[in-house]
Amino acid sequence: MIERTLAIIKPDAVSRHLTGEIIKRYEHQGFKILAIKRIKLTKSQAEGFYYVHKQRPFFDSLASFMAGGPMVVLVLEGEDVIKRHRDLMGATNPKEAVKGTLRQEFGTDIEHNVIHGSDSRESAQFEIGYLFSGLELQP
Ligand code: UDP
Ligand code: MG
Repeated sequence: MIERTLAIIKPDAVSRHLTGEIIKRYEHQGFKILAIKRIKLTKSQAEGFYYVHKQRPFFDSLASFMAGGPMVVLVLEGEDVIKRHRDLMGATNPKEAVKGTLRQEFGTDIEHNVIHGSDSRESAQFEIGYLFSGLELQP
């Protein structure tokens, strides 16, 4: 089944000039880049994006990090792309991520882990709608 996922090249990766390297990996995987833009969220916009985590102890720090600089947001499309992108990302904690994954190669710590990816069709639908308008999602 062709599906869509929301990817974020997080502010730590953008500031370290890893944007091109990560996009290259996506193209190498055959993911279609349906939409892409560079944006900077306010802290309250970052809190809204991560609302599912609002009770977690890391929520405030996470929102500050995600609002701390520009990010590059993408909608990727492809067969089984939600899981394939999560596999390419690796585990949340870079120290536990499998060799060759983006987080293992480029992540610093459990917060500064370079990349976000939707974890289900439901979260992909919410996250894409939060960051893109329908006009930006031309097939
Ligand atoms: N995070 C953190 N501390 C934790 C767990 C997560 O700072 O103990 C941050 C990290 O940047 C992570 C994000 O919160 O990517 C969202 O957490 P989630 O559990 O959804 O991990 P992901 O789906 O990104 O692997
Ligand atoms: Mg998550």
